[in-house]
Amino acid sequence: MKKQNINRVVLIGTGAVGCSYAYSFINQGIAEELVLIDVNEKRAEGEAMDLNHGIPFAPAPVKVWSGKYEDCGPADLVVITAGLPQKPGETRLDLVAKNTAIFKEIVKNVMASGFNGIFLIATNPVDILTYVTWKESGLPKEKVIGSGTTLDSARFRYMLGEYFDVDSRNVHAAIIGEHGDTELPVWSKAAIGSENIASLLEKNEKYNQQDLDKLFENVRDAAYHIIERKGATYYGIGMSLVRITKAILNNENSILTVSAYLDGQYGQNDVYIGVPAIINRDGIREIMDIDLTKEEQEKFNHSVKVLKETMAPVL
Ligand code: NAD
Repeated sequence: MKKQNINRVVLIGTGAVGCSYAYSFINQGIAEELVLIDVNEKRAEGEAMDLNHGIPFAPAPVKVWSGKYEDCGPADLVVITAGLPQKPGETRLDLVAKNTAIFKEIVKNVMASGFNGIFLIATNPVDILTYVTWKESGLPKEKVIGSGTTLDSARFRYMLGEYFDVDSRNVHAAIIGEHGDTELPVWSKAAIGSENIASLLEKNEKYNQQDLDKLFENVRDAAYHIIERKGATYYGIGMSLVRITKAILNNENSILTVSAYLDGQYGQNDVYIGVPAIINRDGIREIMDIDLTKEEQEKFNHSVKVLKETMAPVL
């Protein structure tokens, strides 16, 4: 279907994550149109009304409305945050069967509109649902992106920024692997500004690896810690999704740890998983196949194995 001269993003799922995305989206003025779709039509309608009432204070004009799947036809990006959230004590992978069924239906409806843009997926288990979206849509793998470990890497950078007392935007560090229990930090490449963290540890005895190991555990388990306290997580992921949206719509060539389809990179095939990738208007321009240490590679392989085992029964 012919694209318009303006950017249209369709958000499917106007729950806590979707609305945090929408709120951040209009506050950052990143596109001209935002369409809201939810199985609960009244909710999408109410959210559109509420968001519209803030538009006089937004940095740029934006049209927000509650729409239908037909509105996906000329869209540049469809963001999916629909589905069932993680319950206390439930792992993300427990959600797989329930959300796979929901996704097959949603993707079928989007594709029936003539959509030919990019999909961005956040619903959990995000790596598996990104794979399901790719399979069901028939779109090229570069055009289907999961939020992957973007949020986890942001949590990691934030906590490292606190530990070393520097602006988290100057922390260059990545979490890769499954967005979930088997994810791993790439310590071998982590840096504060231009200084490798390993050399910072050698130079200053107030820093040590035990603290950093504990810090990573807090990153990995952050969702559990937040869910225990407030029932769900949504602001961090909302802002992560806006960051990825900007990288796409502004053709930024930004490096983000999204869930991307591996086709030989990291010695793995036929899986969507969190890895650093260059993102632009075409989607995933390139996956960065960084050299991991032997231990990091083993952990990554384990993460792939767990994802594939979980995915097998539902595909
Ligand atoms: P929520 O229950 O608040 O919202 C989900 C929304 O999806 C609801 O409004 C519901 O009506 C809608 N929905 C359900 N089935 C639908 C369908 N078939 N079509 C259209 N809409 C449908 O949940 P939430 O807190 O917003 O979480 C959404 C998802 O995001 C969950 O899977 C959660 O685990 C995930 N999440 C991901 C990350 C990440 O880093 N990727 C972080 C936090 C949450």
